[in-house]
Amino acid sequence: MPDLFPIEKIPVQPLHSNWWYEGRTQVFMLRLDMTDPVISGNKWFKLKYNLQEARDKGIDTILTFGGPFSNHLIATAAAAHKYGLKSVGIVRGMEEQLTPTLKECTSYGMKLHGVNRETYSRKEEPAFLLELQQHFPDAFIIPEGGANDAGRKGVAEIARFIEPQFTHICVSVGSGTTLAGLREALPVTQQIIGFAPMKGGKYLEAEIAAQLSPEQNKNWRLTDEFHFGGFGRINTTLTEFMSNFEAQLSIPLDRVYTSKMMYGVQQLLHRGDFGDDAQVLCIHTGGLQGNRGLVM
Ligand SMILES: *Cc1c(COP(=O)(O)O)cnc(C)c1O
Repeated sequence: MPDLFPIEKIPVQPLHSNWWYEGRTQVFMLRLDMTDPVISGNKWFKLKYNLQEARDKGIDTILTFGGPFSNHLIATAAAAHKYGLKSVGIVRGMEEQLTPTLKECTSYGMKLHGVNRETYSRKEEPAFLLELQQHFPDAFIIPEGGANDAGRKGVAEIARFIEPQFTHICVSVGSGTTLAGLREALPVTQQIIGFAPMKGGKYLEAEIAAQLSPEQNKNWRLTDEFHFGGFGRINTTLTEFMSNFEAQLSIPLDRVYTSKMMYGVQQLLHRGDFGDDAQVLCIHTGGLQGNRGLVM
């Protein structure tokens, strides 16, 4: 699969601003959000080898899962369209009035199938997947969030943008695929800190650990301290932080993942968690399309 964008154009930007932080620790951001407005952040990396596998098998339809604002769903629709593949989206709790995300999915030719939350929760059960496969016999099924071996192999390529000088790598976590892929690819001397944007996100720790070999399962941790009430939840503290961050540093953040991560990074900086000599790299995993309709 040829890359969708010139990868040498992904910048690492220093985060200089007294509003943000006045201490000695140096903080940078890897701007994966700048790759493409829709197939942005970590999503292309997770899709790349999945699409390739489908194409190698001669399969022309991609089927995957997501909620009404899902970055993964829209990235899949757009990437499939770009490579001349058809796509089907199984959508959790789809309402008659489509969200901007889902409308755009259909503009890329994605066929949407709404299911209720109970049905959606079966998305990893073999029996349900078999049913789906019988219903869509020509489809290559990618799990929600691109969480499979091909997805992990793709995100491991993000490591090539990460110089050895960085002591800490911060990344937001949904399925944990990106964190696991990075842990596989980066030297274990670089510490990875995952920020879970959902309540009780600590459960992901075991799922991530299960994907790693004993040699790789080192020097990473996960915090779910900065969830702001749960997945997709926001409050004025967070929206004010997001708009100040963009005003002071000229970097837009998404409301679901990267805003909560950067709020958390700022808290850890203020607590002196990283140490004065640390060089911290925060990964901007994109997702800006999901901000549509957000009133700040
Ligand atoms: C999907 C997504 C994540 C989560 O990635 P995982 O590999 O599922 O952990 C993080 N940030 C953004 C902006 C995303 O869209």
